[in-house]
Amino acid sequence: MRYISTRGQAPALGFEDVLLTGLAPDGGLYVPESLPHFSIEEIRSWRGLSYSELAFNVMHPFVEDTIPADDFRTMLDETYQQFAHGAVAPLVQLDSNEWVMELFRGPTLAFKDFALQLLGRLLDYVLEKRNQHVVIMGATSGDTGSAAIEGCRHCKHVDIFILHPHERVSEVQRRQMTTVTGDNIHNIAVRGNFDDCQRMVKASFGDQSFLGGKTQLAAVNSINWARIMAQIVYYFHASLALGGPDRSLAFSVPTGNFGDIFAGYLAKQMGLPVSQLVIATNRNDILHRFMSGNKYEQQQLEHTLSPSMDIMVSSNFERLLFDLHGRDGDAVKTLLENASKGPVSIADYRWRQARKLFDSEAVDDQATCDTIRDVYQQNEYLLDPHTAIGVRAARSCRRDASVPMVTLATAHPAKFPDAIAAAGVNVDAELPAHMADLFERDERYTVLDNELTSVQDFIAEHWQHA
Ligand SMILES: *Cc1c(COP(=O)(O)O)cnc(C)c1O
Repeated sequence: MRYISTRGQAPALGFEDVLLTGLAPDGGLYVPESLPHFSIEEIRSWRGLSYSELAFNVMHPFVEDTIPADDFRTMLDETYQQFAHGAVAPLVQLDSNEWVMELFRGPTLAFKDFALQLLGRLLDYVLEKRNQHVVIMGATSGDTGSAAIEGCRHCKHVDIFILHPHERVSEVQRRQMTTVTGDNIHNIAVRGNFDDCQRMVKASFGDQSFLGGKTQLAAVNSINWARIMAQIVYYFHASLALGGPDRSLAFSVPTGNFGDIFAGYLAKQMGLPVSQLVIATNRNDILHRFMSGNKYEQQQLEHTLSPSMDIMVSSNFERLLFDLHGRDGDAVKTLLENASKGPVSIADYRWRQARKLFDSEAVDDQATCDTIRDVYQQNEYLLDPHTAIGVRAARSCRRDASVPMVTLATAHPAKFPDAIAAAGVNVDAELPAHMADLFERDERYTVLDNELTSVQDFIAEHWQHA
């Protein structure tokens, strides 16, 4: 399997290189040159498999012999043993034909563990083979940082530096990052905001000379193809659990950077019967505005009760635009260059194609709280604010009540106690057993000035073999 750039001007890469690369050199994102396709009979034969066995079947065509099958199976077993539920991604019924799939049973209580637990293992495997080392550098305002740290904590060939804005992340989120100890884990609190952190990461990727040529940077945000790949699996898992592939399913996905729902779109292209995909956004609704009016336009960032979906642009949307444009990299390049300067539209027939693939809804904080409260009253089931947005959008966009509608539950409610309180639900969402002592654990992080050179000097001095 080879991987090509959505902007058409970078050389194609194999799986190993795509794993170690972030953005393509032409500014695009890597996608598989072609997708594997599974027949209904083949998917049906996967009934009864464990999550990890299913993951092997779905992902093997992307990885091929880069990793020998036995090693890949072992890696997947280890990855999904980190999840605190036998089903890995259990389904909970809310109403007639209405479900949530709990993707928050991993080490950091958000769906990002599904991909990052695997990514850390894949990276270490490939780096061991090549006798190489990488430095992961990332900025976080919440979930990605802790999931990435947990994913890399046992890696021998990876150092990870996560920047977060000093005193501007929630205590649970900070502690989830800073209480993980290991010589290769480095938390930096920058005296600045999230954008400052992100700018420093971007500048460092652009000019890596501060590392002295002795190691290189790698990306773990959702532009990394391996993250998307790992997320395709749970769409198959949901289908097989609810009578698929002999009936089709609908999914509603709390969406920020469009990584998670893009994986659902790929599952459908790979042969899984999916009748509806709902893009659920908060008030940062660039995707909903595009789906409703064919205008892709950045707006001011709004802070909401669902911070992991607070985005201005959705980086993975580029991967869909590539398909909508018949995989014409030049067209995508022109479109996105224009989009950085002002609003853009796409040809009407292409936009109609997008509307056939996706429905969408934007949900504000008030409706988020109402949904948390309604579902708690009806089911005694607590939704986190991101999942509540998904459930709300599922209910308003649903087309066929006879088709099971599955909302992806992207985070555990205990991560967002403020939203639960704002909804007026008077219960404490408890942290699961493996995190119950989070507030007693020692923290380790370094506070640095909001200056690129301070951060780069710190990294150059502190990676393990520096
Ligand atoms: C990251 C995240 C999302 C958004 O996922 P995308 O793949 O960026 O669309 C939604 N909910 C939670 C809890 C998240 O952490």
